[in-house]
Amino acid sequence: MSDRAPCPDPMPIYLDNHATTPVDPRVLDAMLPYFREKFGNASSRSHVFGWDAEKAVERAREQVAQLLGAESREIVFTSGATESNNLAIRGAVAARRDVRDHIITSPIEHPAVLDTVESLRAAGVRVTVLPVDSLGRVSVDAARAAADEKTALLSVMVANNEIGTTQPVRELGAIAEACGAWLHSDATQGVGRLPLNVITDTIHLASLTAHKIHGPQGAGALYVRRRNPAVRLVAQNFGGSQERGMRAGTLNVPGIVGLGMACELCRLEMDEETARVSSLRDRLRDRLQDGIPDLLENGDPDGRLPGNLNISIPGVENTALMMAVPEIAISSGAACASGQLSMSHVMAAMGVNPSRAGSSLRFGLGRFTTETEIATAADLVIAAARQLRR
Ligand SMILES: *Cc1c(COP(=O)(O)O)cnc(C)c1O
Repeated sequence: MSDRAPCPDPMPIYLDNHATTPVDPRVLDAMLPYFREKFGNASSRSHVFGWDAEKAVERAREQVAQLLGAESREIVFTSGATESNNLAIRGAVAARRDVRDHIITSPIEHPAVLDTVESLRAAGVRVTVLPVDSLGRVSVDAARAAADEKTALLSVMVANNEIGTTQPVRELGAIAEACGAWLHSDATQGVGRLPLNVITDTIHLASLTAHKIHGPQGAGALYVRRRNPAVRLVAQNFGGSQERGMRAGTLNVPGIVGLGMACELCRLEMDEETARVSSLRDRLRDRLQDGIPDLLENGDPDGRLPGNLNISIPGVENTALMMAVPEIAISSGAACASGQLSMSHVMAAMGVNPSRAGSSLRFGLGRFTTETEIATAADLVIAAARQLRR
């Protein structure tokens, strides 16, 4: 394939952008000074190192806020979406516990939401898990029926990380508003890929992370609405007054700078990127369908992330297929925890039958995916599927 001789192990084609994304070189460039000469602690008030770091953090806060249609003082920096989800859900429930003791969520949330909600259920909080349909769409009617004056929080994601299905957050936000509850949305996959505005989408709390939008791992944020209504949170860690008392600990300045730059690039380039990535995704789907006529698509073909394609190849186990194409970095829709095969909780909730779930493959395209990579990946998957079926 290549005429560069000593290249025995070429980099696989990366099609797992739902798991993490490569750092954009422009993001890295923005971060580097904050590892080198501008290494100060953003809480140091007595010298220029601290002031420079604080200025950079406040600029990033503005960049994150702008992408969401929020105000910069509504942004709390965290270590990532897992921490943001924990802080949002535990913090909101703790703040309202005396009057509201009910959470509504969906069965297709990320474990960072599901496990957090489970921990509260074990502590006596009432939990309603909404049904989803076969395309992975959360039921708005069920949410309306479940919400009442005791509901503290609805927590439903913007878009799912396995099947890419986007959720009716605006409708859910209106339901929350009508009964005085708050809508938390794990926006990790939707941020920077779908137009999102916390005001028009009626979102009161939103979690995001840098590493899913071509920023660094270990930096994230939580949007906490300050007006109409003012959302209160009880801090979930202690030991410092950073982030207005909501998140103690020295700020990850280089990471935050990277998150800010990643958000700014998304804001400026999202429309163009969405068009390009979704057309590459459609091309991948068309090619695979031509080569594998009985291929099944999972998720909602009309409402999903631009870079997401989740398919099942009947009769071909996803683990076998992935092993047959080490040249491509893809993943199974079905989660595989510690070597133990178990059906994806997302597919299970959608009522997908186990054999279809066991043959599901998730392709996640991103900013750096090329046409050539898509053509090569499609050829490799088709060849492997034919081989395995023989
Ligand atoms: C990746 C992901 C998370 C976890 O984010 P981290 O920053 O890695 O903690 C949470 N929710 C969704 C939907 C994700 O895709």
